[in-house]
Amino acid sequence: MTDSTSPSPTGSAAPAELDADVVVVGLGAWGSQALWRLAERGVRVVGVERFGIGHPLGSTHGTTRLFRIACMEHPGLAPIATRARDLWLDLGERTGRTLLRQTGGVMVGPRDGHVVAGTLRAVEEAGLEATVLDHDELVARFPAHAGFGADDIGVWDPAAGISYPEAGVRSAVETAVGLGATVLTDTRVTAIELVEGGAEVTAGGRVIRASHVVVALGAWMPQFVDLPLVARRTPLFWFEGKDSASTTPGGDHDLASFPVFIRQLPDGTTLWGHGADKADGEGYAVKIGLEDSRGSFSDTEADTVDRYIHPAQDYGLLSAAVATAFPGLDPTPSKAIPCMVTNSPDRQFVVGRPGGDPRLVVAGGDSGHGFKHAPAIGELLAQLALGEEPFTDIDFMDPDRSYDGTSWMDEAGDTADPTAPQLTPSTSPRTA
Ligand SMILES: Cc1cc2nc3c(=O)[nH]c(=O)nc-3n(C[C@H](O)[C@H](O)[C@H](O)COP(=O)(O)OP(=O)(O)OC[C@H]3O[C@@H](n4cnc5c(N)ncnc54)[C@H](O)[C@@H]3O)c2cc1C
Repeated sequence: MTDSTSPSPTGSAAPAELDADVVVVGLGAWGSQALWRLAERGVRVVGVERFGIGHPLGSTHGTTRLFRIACMEHPGLAPIATRARDLWLDLGERTGRTLLRQTGGVMVGPRDGHVVAGTLRAVEEAGLEATVLDHDELVARFPAHAGFGADDIGVWDPAAGISYPEAGVRSAVETAVGLGATVLTDTRVTAIELVEGGAEVTAGGRVIRASHVVVALGAWMPQFVDLPLVARRTPLFWFEGKDSASTTPGGDHDLASFPVFIRQLPDGTTLWGHGADKADGEGYAVKIGLEDSRGSFSDTEADTVDRYIHPAQDYGLLSAAVATAFPGLDPTPSKAIPCMVTNSPDRQFVVGRPGGDPRLVVAGGDSGHGFKHAPAIGELLAQLALGEEPFTDIDFMDPDRSYDGTSWMDEAGDTADPTAPQLTPSTSPRTA
């Protein structure tokens, strides 16, 4: 990103001819929703996407994502998730698609572990509904889970469930276009320049001029913004039951009996996932992933990310954990696809106006937990771009905050058993 003005312009003198009030660069999870929320306000908005809408090359694919309102990552996320829930339901109604299924979900681990302690702290600070399940209730209620620690308890979050990445992106873009937004797909942005009174975005051989630019480039953010963001290769995995009937409706691993969970195992390994949904014949198997605390994942560059799956490195630890925690599942994944997250040093989103510049709004550093919030992040991006008051406090996501590498979750509970083996140097945990 370059700034062709000197000193910093005020934003008062708009370019003579504007192509748009706002240009949104990157139409993945967050950019597509910003496009919708801006189009909803009737402003002239152009969205530019390098690939197709709902493509599988960034961070927003693989059919499902966990949805939670009691977010262990920060209590300030609860109002954002709550707004996201309302907007997911609104967008689903407008498009006739299911974009959110609130099945409820269980967070499991020792009382002082980061999963349970973080969730309970979020519940308390945000005043949310949740039910604490003691050890016996936990064991009785979730028979597909095994290998609980003696100290494990559960927190049942009735608002948790499943959201849908490709459908969510497509719905937002279609709705925005219906409201008058212009969308350029298969169009790569090659330069974003801040100029007097606005921004110029070079894309597909043309320059788009706008008063404001929203940059929502996911794993490609480091190519355009000078912020401490690092893309990380994090594949997605699905599993089948040892008994094939167990993942069909009524089976032990069907979504109804094996709902959304995040579970810290006794050795500190943390798994997240949800049951299968094969009701319509085209559904999905059980999805399970490993929290990024054990060195299974590696930093990457978005343009050169390794898109092959390497069994030992990619799912050796995951398969071992699945065998222990879910003995009814075949521990070898039935399907695996690459994906990326983009980490910030404190694993919190980076959403705001760097330096308070009214021309530029950034949205990156999803840190592996950003999809559920997407429409509410889109709403915040629209508010920031247009100079409206954000609907909730977003100081904890400020791009200009001091990044000391400590997350709110670190303070809420232990992240892992420090004596457990680490295969390679790891970064801090990532949840879903
Ligand atoms: C394995 C895994 C599991 C996850 N689980 C969960 C979960 O359960 N719950 C949850 O809430 N979140 C989860 N997440 C995180 C969630 O998926 C991300 O937070 C979210 O998808 C990030 O969206 P984004 O808009 O930042 O990036 P993206 O959706 O990747 O959007 C960036 C867009 O920018 C485009 N782009 C790049 N370069 C250019 C260019 N030069 N010109 C134009 N366009 C460009 C890209 O093509 C892309 O479409 C998970 C992520 C992974 C990888």
